[in-house]
Amino acid sequence: MSESTFSVNFPTELPVKHTADVIVIGGGPGGIGAAVSAARGGADVLLVEHYGFLGGMATAGEVNPFMPNHHDGKSLDTGIFTEWLDRMGTYGGRLGDSRVFDPGAARLAAEDLCVEAGVRLLYHHRVAHVETADKKITGIVLHSKSGLTAAKAKQYIDSTGDGDLAALAGCEFKFGSEDTGFAQPMTMCFKLKLSEKARPADVTNGDLFQNMMKDQYDLIQEVYKKAQADGRIECPRENVLMFRGVDRDVVHFNTTRVIKHDATNGDSLSEAEVLARKQIRQLVKVLSEEVPAFKDCQLYSIAPQIGIRESRRIMGRDFVTTQDYMDGRTYADGIARVTYPIDIHNPNGTGTVLLHFPKEAWMEVPFGCLLPKDIDNLGIGARCISVDHAVHSAVRVMPPVVSLGQAIGTAAAMAVKAGKDICQVQGAAVKEELIKQGRNLVPFDPEKQTTATYTDEQRAQIAEVCEKRAGRFSA
Ligand SMILES: Cc1cc2nc3c(=O)[nH]c(=O)nc-3n(C[C@H](O)[C@H](O)[C@H](O)COP(=O)(O)OP(=O)(O)OC[C@H]3O[C@@H](n4cnc5c(N)ncnc54)[C@H](O)[C@@H]3O)c2cc1C
Repeated sequence: MSESTFSVNFPTELPVKHTADVIVIGGGPGGIGAAVSAARGGADVLLVEHYGFLGGMATAGEVNPFMPNHHDGKSLDTGIFTEWLDRMGTYGGRLGDSRVFDPGAARLAAEDLCVEAGVRLLYHHRVAHVETADKKITGIVLHSKSGLTAAKAKQYIDSTGDGDLAALAGCEFKFGSEDTGFAQPMTMCFKLKLSEKARPADVTNGDLFQNMMKDQYDLIQEVYKKAQADGRIECPRENVLMFRGVDRDVVHFNTTRVIKHDATNGDSLSEAEVLARKQIRQLVKVLSEEVPAFKDCQLYSIAPQIGIRESRRIMGRDFVTTQDYMDGRTYADGIARVTYPIDIHNPNGTGTVLLHFPKEAWMEVPFGCLLPKDIDNLGIGARCISVDHAVHSAVRVMPPVVSLGQAIGTAAAMAVKAGKDICQVQGAAVKEELIKQGRNLVPFDPEKQTTATYTDEQRAQIAEVCEKRAGRFSA
């Protein structure tokens, strides 16, 4: 279909309504880490967010729980992530000491951390255009109810998840799987509240979720597969992926799957929303009619927007490959540690690959993965860093993304203090600063640049087994 064109006369002079040392675009997990750390480092920070609240996928996507990213039983994301989680607890928005949280509490807690650090918040604004000169961003255009306005900063951080700011600045990016070009599928999360009458009789006073999973998990999967086979459910996911909610009678579903859609294409994203809600209607109907635990259940919540796992990955001054990940590579400028598995929901349909590390291993993200190679005063504080498709699937979960944000925000403040651009800050110095902030990082040991000790044969076996394994606990 040929597209016609339409000439417009956009204003060429715009009022500069906002200035700051550091502008962070996007207030999801990465943007929270970036804005809070840059402000704590002494920079004047403006955080620009499309929604009227913070949290990104944790709130607008109702993604839950925070996935484990641990080593030796300890969180690798001590710092702004653990502060955020602890603060949610003060609002009753956390299930005990677990990583299950309430999205409302996540909004409040994120805003608390930002406001207390002195971050200026600008909600309901979206970046629409970027001006560059000599490999630098010279100013950006924001769109809001006020129309188009300009904003300027010394350093910029892209925390949009999709790399919108970097792409508008002309940075090179990769998209989706190297094989097919499709990104991981999108998923719209929703929650069902079990009805009092229909709860399995023996679980009325116990742990409802665990008992339901024990008693009715197999039935749920059977009912789902049958409905999928006869076309009553059009979701291509291999199984029903469920987690507990903060409330004991609420079940969280990470089950819908919209494949071969592009989160950076407006039409495609809009269509994905409609397809996902169609799947929710089908799932709720089948589960409430055919699974006793869900009889008379109540539709407790649907995420305000479809969840986006993957889109652009902005090419940086360093790049981490699957081989680096599997080796458990460490770096002198390793600013985040990750043990979360490679977790790829099939971009083409059914199946989920989960590829775990051996117990002793972890991988590090070098600082250069957060620095777009094409622009000097821009850093990435979001999932869209310079790694391949499989490594992205591991580093994308929320706890390490907050830590990536904390690293780039710290670097931005260091750059402002030194009168330099963010790309001139030494990664090893950022790492040192992060250790002082209490991040669970270890000093670089040149004798130990790989932490995983499996053989090539074991690797091949793991990969093969994982290919076949359904992702029951994946994100
Ligand atoms: C369905 C699904 C399930 C998942 N499950 C889990 C899980 O169980 N546990 C876990 O830990 N992780 C999970 N993840 C991964 C995790 O949620 C995301 O990878 C993570 O939130 C990425 O953080 P981010 O800050 O990079 O981006 P986002 O969370 O997407 O935040 C980006 C923010 O930027 C704003 N924004 C975007 N574009 C613009 C723009 N142009 N202008 C202004 N603002 C903009 C958005 O409104 C948003 O607030 C899941 C992801 C999905 C999609």
